[in-house]
Amino acid sequence: MNPQYHGQYGQGPPVGQGGPVSSAGYGGPAPGPPGPRPMYNGQPMQGQGQFAGPGKQMPVQNGPQMGPPSNMGGPQGDLQYGQARPPGPGPNQFPQRGPAPPGGMGGPRGPGPNPSMMPGQGPNQLNAQMGNMNISGPPTRGPSQPTMGGMPPMGSSTGMTPGYNTAPVIGGGSGPPSNLPPNSLGGPPTGSNTGMPGPRPHGMGGMMPPRSTPQPSNTYGGPPSSSQGLPPTTGGYGQPNSMATGPLGGQPPISSSYGQPPVSMGGMQQPGFPPPPSSSSGPPNMGMQPPGGMPPPSSTSQGNFPPTSSYGGPQPGGPIPGGFPPTSNMAAPGFNQPPTGFPPMGGQTPVSQGFQSPGSQDMSHGQYGGNQPPQFNQGFPAPQPGRPGMPGMQPASMQQPQKRLDPDQMPSPIQVIQDDRNNRSGTFSTAGKGVVPPLVTTQFITSDQGSCNPAFLRSTMYNVPCTSDMLKNSHIPFALTISPFAKLQTEEHPPPIVNLGELGPVRCKRCKAYMNPNMMFIDGGRRFQCVFCGAATDVPDAYFAHLDHTGRRVDSYDRPELCLGSYEFVATKDYCKDSILPNAPAFIFMIDVSYKAVKCGLVNLICERLKKDILLNLPKEIGAEKSEIRVAFVTYGKEIHFYNVKGALAQPQMLVVSDVDDVFVPLLDGFFVTLEESESVIDSLLTQIPQMFSDSRETEVILGPVIQAGLDALKSADRAGKLYIFHTSLPIGEAPGKLKNRDDRKLLGTDKEKTILSPQSKFYSQLGQECVSAGCSVDVFLFPDTYCDVATISDICRLTSGNMYKYSYFQADLDGDRFIEDFKNNVQSQRAFDAIVRVRTSQGIRPVDFLGNFYMSNTTDVEMCAIDSNQAISVEIKHDDKLKEQEGAFVQVAVLFTSVSGQRRLRIHNLSLNCCTQLADLFRNCELDTFINYMSKYAIRNTLNKSPRETREHIMTEVANVLACYRKNCASPSSAGQLILPECMKLLPLYGNCVIKSDGIQGGQDISTDDRSYLMHLTNAMDVKSSCAFFYPRLIPLHDLDPSGTTLPSAMRCSAERLQDNGVYLLENGVSMFIWIGHSVDPDWIQKVFSVQSAAQIDIDKCRLHELENEISHRVRDVVNQVRAQRNRYMKLTIVRQRDKLEPWFNHFLVEDKGQNGSASYVDFLCHIHKEIRNLLN
Ligand SMILES: [Zn+2]
Repeated sequence: MNPQYHGQYGQGPPVGQGGPVSSAGYGGPAPGPPGPRPMYNGQPMQGQGQFAGPGKQMPVQNGPQMGPPSNMGGPQGDLQYGQARPPGPGPNQFPQRGPAPPGGMGGPRGPGPNPSMMPGQGPNQLNAQMGNMNISGPPTRGPSQPTMGGMPPMGSSTGMTPGYNTAPVIGGGSGPPSNLPPNSLGGPPTGSNTGMPGPRPHGMGGMMPPRSTPQPSNTYGGPPSSSQGLPPTTGGYGQPNSMATGPLGGQPPISSSYGQPPVSMGGMQQPGFPPPPSSSSGPPNMGMQPPGGMPPPSSTSQGNFPPTSSYGGPQPGGPIPGGFPPTSNMAAPGFNQPPTGFPPMGGQTPVSQGFQSPGSQDMSHGQYGGNQPPQFNQGFPAPQPGRPGMPGMQPASMQQPQKRLDPDQMPSPIQVIQDDRNNRSGTFSTAGKGVVPPLVTTQFITSDQGSCNPAFLRSTMYNVPCTSDMLKNSHIPFALTISPFAKLQTEEHPPPIVNLGELGPVRCKRCKAYMNPNMMFIDGGRRFQCVFCGAATDVPDAYFAHLDHTGRRVDSYDRPELCLGSYEFVATKDYCKDSILPNAPAFIFMIDVSYKAVKCGLVNLICERLKKDILLNLPKEIGAEKSEIRVAFVTYGKEIHFYNVKGALAQPQMLVVSDVDDVFVPLLDGFFVTLEESESVIDSLLTQIPQMFSDSRETEVILGPVIQAGLDALKSADRAGKLYIFHTSLPIGEAPGKLKNRDDRKLLGTDKEKTILSPQSKFYSQLGQECVSAGCSVDVFLFPDTYCDVATISDICRLTSGNMYKYSYFQADLDGDRFIEDFKNNVQSQRAFDAIVRVRTSQGIRPVDFLGNFYMSNTTDVEMCAIDSNQAISVEIKHDDKLKEQEGAFVQVAVLFTSVSGQRRLRIHNLSLNCCTQLADLFRNCELDTFINYMSKYAIRNTLNKSPRETREHIMTEVANVLACYRKNCASPSSAGQLILPECMKLLPLYGNCVIKSDGIQGGQDISTDDRSYLMHLTNAMDVKSSCAFFYPRLIPLHDLDPSGTTLPSAMRCSAERLQDNGVYLLENGVSMFIWIGHSVDPDWIQKVFSVQSAAQIDIDKCRLHELENEISHRVRDVVNQVRAQRNRYMKLTIVRQRDKLEPWFNHFLVEDKGQNGSASYVDFLCHIHKEIRNLLN
């Protein structure tokens, strides 16, 4: 712990936090005259003396690790930052979206009233009282069947927008290019993006880049200030006729036979599995990977490993060699021959155990293998003697008797997780530079001692190679996964907020890095030398403090930015668009009220729970009494209904816009409100909406204009914010953003899959960019029964850092709680709006690639319209020069954002890493979970640009290259037959295979196109904890729970071999959750948990655990609840009985086994990697 620090700020920072803007002093008068501790001293602070202490508990935090001054600020220092940057963009550069009104949303924007809202103002008034509200527009078709299914499939979609975010090479062309194809990923290249006038200058460095020029929105037909007040009849809105409130008969739906689809799949609609894909990527191709040198990701012939569908799986057109048992056998006990005496939990001792272990002695790293090479399991591609260029490829083992490898001798994730828990639970201090944090699966409390909590920032490596060659040679990517607003443990403290008044954050004059504990003060405290670029910057008078005899500032412990790894600065106007402080953010709830939405109970559910679960839980600043978030309400079908919920009204008013080709927002005053000012009107609205639309027969919904309307409203109100869209079906209504049903599931798993995994048109991608420039994030909650083109719709969520949720075959009574929990968590976890993330690194390295759900219009600034506590981005860092071993490597992540109360702030995270010149040091200080997190996002991007086979082979090649590098450079000499794995990386083959097998990355035709796209979207924003669970699910035995226990039982390896016929197991991966029930489970257990006499009588469609009054029932529900509480999304529980139809789906998550689609088992994959390593070493 950092007792000195936390003793002070643990109660919440004294400044700014949660306070209104005016009281916090930003924008207020400058802090007092220069003094040693101008700001913090100015505040009433308890325990001041604690901070002013001599720092004896943290004596070396600043000094020694800084390195000699002479090493800094040399010519190289100028190279990176000094020249590439346009000279001196002043801090005032934030030209943005149009002039901001001085007032907030509460009042009219322009002069004069907003007459359109007032009842009785003319024939075109949209003043209908809610009570007699009707839907205008042409009569809809009968409630027969929705038309989605009838669309002709589009074989090959046009307009294949490149996939995930772009990874432009940074800098003035001096650095090594990224090995990614530029512009291969979703964002447009710098300067070519539509809607963005030209490339931006540097963002947070030189300050904010210009966004789209202040164009008045076309929706008002004139300057905002004057048109605002015009009634619609003047033409100010352009289409007075398009708003109508015409009555429409309320014929109830005639048919109620809307097909009830199955509901038993956990979010996935496809029970059972089709046969393995018939297509194959060709014959196994075993080749030699030249050692050293990064293989180009696009290489097609060096991949070595035969495609998944071939190895171990069916050969093209042929029977399955080596035989994966048919699905029906899979469930049967005896599948894979349970090893004798197999304890479920294993006591595996992977380290030092070989496959055939004579001669394994090196305990410092796991050795797997003895004098003989591992045996190739059945199902592996047969040796192909005729293949050229493979000298020595046929290992002796191939002639040896086939012998099954013992899975217990392979590295076990359960063991690794348990060992780390045993060794590293408790407190983790960040004081040491380059200390690898505990695993994400370990419960630990972080003590911030100058480097940030690993919950915010994790690195694939904590000892960074000094040179580019060494890094390349290792094949380990140097990548960070950043969760800037991660939720902390209750024992941990949120980053304190520092308010330096008009002075603003103190920064390096050259590289603009923010003050941090690693800056070194010189000249008696009058200047500080930048830890990143080496430049010396004058200390502002107001920030001056004397140095003590060790060279530290005497106020080091008074200022978070001088002693902590994470803190926030209150930003000045210079950090705001147009130098105007922002308004509080807004949420717009936009509810599909089509026939389908009403029928499944969605509309009723949302309106019933919105107030209690959502509006009463809007995010607020820590310590604040109420939320500052503004809310607004919209419903839509084929047209859009806006609601005036101004507090002064007796009843809410509805305004209908039926011209959706050029949508506009017909009201501002009364549209955005706070809950307290309009509580009764909102209550009334939420009561009336379900009644109004109970007879809805609309089957053609729109989506594009809905988003446009929300965007326009936020822009007009000059607020950043979020659209919460609750949507049921493919938007086929005649309007911009109309989509075709182009589903063609047969393409999944083939080289053409990218066509249906990419957006079908550019509409939503372009609209997403417009949203980004307005700080408008879009969250879409989907409730589809059929294909609704998640690939296209999710693109707007991706660009705007929004979330997507999908509830297939939604029924409010069964799925309502799950949806509401997700909705609630989403709203509560929103922490930042209109954010820009900038990563700075030490001289010699720089960020070159960014992965995640965000938008970039230049090469350095990651724009995120909203950030919640679950979102993460990944950044790859490469060398453009050398690092100096004695100095270390530093990273600073700065997030400029608007807080939930509308305060503009900067959140800063600092990380100190070591540098190394020995590969062994690198391999000893790696973090595999972060590596896998990065690898998976990279693979997602590849999925949209390459063939499935190339994506797969890229991962396999990288895994083999990493391990071959270790074997060659770090392991002690041993027989070539031994597989030697570095301790930190011994699960790399297993996890790499799990990534390959993942539905999001290599999904075949056994999941739907939409589910595939959905998982891709999820994976792309996962933090390390989520991806860790997602790729290697947690399997927990439930049948032998200790009734008096309180913690979660130990997990088991994910293999069918481990399941006992008389057992019950929980399996979850953060997205799906199952309870598997063996066929000979004790009936008493079933009775106590499910209240039926046998497993056969369990209603698996209900997927609920009854609240029964007995110990076992309590304990099982406790386990399920604990697991759910650890995950970001409320997982639907699916009950699977052994041998019933859902079991193949469950088995799909037993990732150590061979997959039904031919994907490799852990054993097979490890053997293959071993062979690849030997090839590389030869
Ligand atoms: Zn600097």
